[in-house]
Amino acid sequence: MSGKVLENILTPQLEELREKGLYNIIDTLEGPNGPVVKIGGKEVINMSSNNYLGLANDERLVQAAIDATKQYGVGAGAVRTINGTMTIHEELEKKIAEFKHTEAAIAFQSGFNCNMGAISAVMTKKDAILSDELNHASIIDGCRLSGAKIIRVKHQDMDDLWRAAKEAVESGAYEKIMYITDGVFSMDGDVAKLPEIVEIAETFGLLTYVDDAHGSGVMGNGAGTVKHFGLSDKIDFQIGTLSKAIGVVGGYVAGTRQLIDWLKVRARPFLFSTAMTPGSAAACIKAIDILMDSTERVDRLWENARYLKEGLKKIGFNTGQSETPITPCIIGEETVTQEFSRRLIEEGVYAKAITYPTVPKGTGRVRNMPTAGHTKEMLDQVLAVYQKVGEALSVI
Ligand code: PMP
Repeated sequence: MSGKVLENILTPQLEELREKGLYNIIDTLEGPNGPVVKIGGKEVINMSSNNYLGLANDERLVQAAIDATKQYGVGAGAVRTINGTMTIHEELEKKIAEFKHTEAAIAFQSGFNCNMGAISAVMTKKDAILSDELNHASIIDGCRLSGAKIIRVKHQDMDDLWRAAKEAVESGAYEKIMYITDGVFSMDGDVAKLPEIVEIAETFGLLTYVDDAHGSGVMGNGAGTVKHFGLSDKIDFQIGTLSKAIGVVGGYVAGTRQLIDWLKVRARPFLFSTAMTPGSAAACIKAIDILMDSTERVDRLWENARYLKEGLKKIGFNTGQSETPITPCIIGEETVTQEFSRRLIEEGVYAKAITYPTVPKGTGRVRNMPTAGHTKEMLDQVLAVYQKVGEALSVI
C-alpha cells in the first residue's frame, strides 16, 4: 500500500525532472578516480573529480591504509565517546591541528557531517548566523539545524555583510552572531574576501567560520585559504574536508582547545556516529605529511589550472569569476548544458553538467577540475574537444 502511495507521488515528479533535464544520471566508474577514468568500458579524461592533488589513488596513501587496517581492523567499532578512541584518530587530529596552525582539531566522518555538527553545536535559537548566499548545502543544513536566525548575505558583497552585521548587532536580539562563508566557492571558484571579513567581524564582534573544503590543499601553498591570507589566529572555525585535495574521506574543525573540547561533547555526528575507518585516518595522515613536505603537487595543480583556463578563454568560453583551479564553463540553459556535457563525454572528456538547483536557474555550467595528475597532452585533448563541441552546439 505505502509502496503504491510513494510510486504515485514520486513517478510523475521524476518524469518531470527528466523532461526538464534536471535529473542527474550517476555514472559508474570501473576503477580508481584518477586523471583518466573508465566508464562503460571506455577510458575518458576525468575533469570532474575533487582529487586536486592526485592523492586519492596514490600508492603511499594506499599502503598507509593497508598497514593501519592490518593494525586496527577495518572498522572503528563504535562511536568514539562510547567505546574509546583509537590512537590513529587522535594522531590524525594532532596532524590536522599542526597543518592548520591551531591548538586542536576534531575529525568527523565527512565534511557534510562536520558542518551539520559544528554549527548546531555552537549556535542556538538565541543566535543569528549571517551566511553567504552561495554557501554549500551542508552549511545551509547545519544552520537550519541550529535553530539560529539565518540572515542570507549577498554573495561576496562586503557592503551587504556590513549592513547585515550592523543591523543584527543593533537589534540587540542575539546572544552570538556568526558569519559563515566557504573559503573557495565550489561552483564558481572565487575566493572569500577574508581580510575584509575579519575587519567587519572585529568591528561587530562576530564569530567567524570558514569552510575551506575547496581551498585546503589548493590555496596558501596547500595550507588553505586562511593561511593564504595569514589569518590563522583570526578565524574561529577552520573547517575542511579530507575528501578532496587530501584524497580520502572525512571532515574536520581546527580551532582553539576550548572549541574542540566543546565540539567533542556537543557535536551530534561525533557523539552518535561511528568514526571514520582506521585505514582512512592513516591515509589522511600520510596525505597531510606529503602536503607539508613539499609544494610540488600544489604547484603542478596551479600550472595545469592556468593552462586550461587560458586555453578555454582563448577558444571563447566564459569561465566566470574563478580565481582557483575550479574552472566552470558557463553555458546557461539547462538542457543545452546537459547536451554539451553529454557530447564532451562522447568525445572522451568526462566533465559533468551542473545545473539548477545546484546553481541558480539559467547559469548551467560544465565544471572542469584540473588536477596535479593531468598531463599537458591530456589538457590539450580536452581543449580540442571543447572547441569541437562548442562549435557544434554554437555556444562559442
Ligand atoms: N563543504 C563544501 C564547501 C563542499 O564543497 C563540500 C563537498 N562538496 C562539503 C562541505 C562536503 O564535504 P564531504 O564531501 O567531505 O562531505
